[in-house]
Amino acid sequence: MEQWDLVIIGAGVAGLAAGIYAARSGLKTLIIDEKMAGGTAADAPSVENYPGFSQISGAELAEKMVLHCRKTGATIRELETVIGLDLKGEKKIVKTARSAYEAAAVIIASGSHYREIGVKGEQEFRGRGVSYCGVCDGPFFRNKRVLMVGGGNSALATALYLSGIVAEVVVVHRRDAFRAEEALVKDVASRKNIQVLLNTEIREITGEKVVNKVVLFDGKAGETKELAVDGVFVQIGEAPNSQLAREAGVEVNEHGYIKIDLFQRTSIAGVYAAGDVTNHPVKQVGTAVGQGITAALEAYGYIRRPYYRK
Ligand code: NAP
Repeated sequence: MEQWDLVIIGAGVAGLAAGIYAARSGLKTLIIDEKMAGGTAADAPSVENYPGFSQISGAELAEKMVLHCRKTGATIRELETVIGLDLKGEKKIVKTARSAYEAAAVIIASGSHYREIGVKGEQEFRGRGVSYCGVCDGPFFRNKRVLMVGGGNSALATALYLSGIVAEVVVVHRRDAFRAEEALVKDVASRKNIQVLLNTEIREITGEKVVNKVVLFDGKAGETKELAVDGVFVQIGEAPNSQLAREAGVEVNEHGYIKIDLFQRTSIAGVYAAGDVTNHPVKQVGTAVGQGITAALEAYGYIRRPYYRK
């Protein structure tokens, strides 16, 4: 079995920041991700609040972090899925579909996945008009009309991005007000090709080979109506990728987020967590990076036990 000082699960911005600090501290560091490195931040059309970058695409920011992380000497293994964790002993075992690794400490930075609406047609038309990523799939809908479901920052930021590509974006939100930042709400209101339908729920997605229609319910008017659309983008929040950690005995809260303390420690000694998988109340690139840094420095202290900890 390969031996590492530290194994980080997830190469999103939290995992990459942790990797940079861990490798620079001299820890033999492995980062594993089931997808390509970059995490969900790489899907953000535009990041305008990460200090030092007034505007940068999520993909470019993530790419810079990946390059930086590799330069520090951390090893990143992409497209390798973690299938089991054995965390209770002094030596932590991380099993993947390809191999198994032993480490003195583990940082869980496995992020989150997009939540689904759960309406009829959503599964059937996934990849055939239903999408969870504007940056990935927006160009397939050039000059077409798409629906955006959601009322938070992700939904509005993605609607703005799509409005530069497609003919029309119709945003449906179930409440009478958005929960997104004011700046995004104002930008959306100023775009001629974005139509907003508040108090509106999506009830069904229909089509033939691909999506061609949605059924909407206007809660205020109490009316059901149909709308012809070529695509449905869903941005209704995220849920934590914490199942393996939970199965290994790591404590999570009632929503499945890993419980952490100020030092990013979980309920198991030598196991840390950082980023969107944790119960930290703020989900931003900057906070994920900060959590990753804290986790790495704490893991370093745990493994090397420097003089100031004795
Ligand atoms: P979010 O803030 O949790 O918003 C989710 C939205 O989806 C809410 O408006 C919610 O409605 C709606 N929703 C939830 N379940 C639904 C359902 N079943 N059907 C219809 N609508 C549903 O999620 P997010 O926008 O993905 O953002 C996640 C986190 O990342 C947040 O902390 C956000 O601030 C952060 N983020 C920040 C930025 C930025 O700073 N620019 C960009 C992207 C994301 P209700 O309002 O009724 O609950």
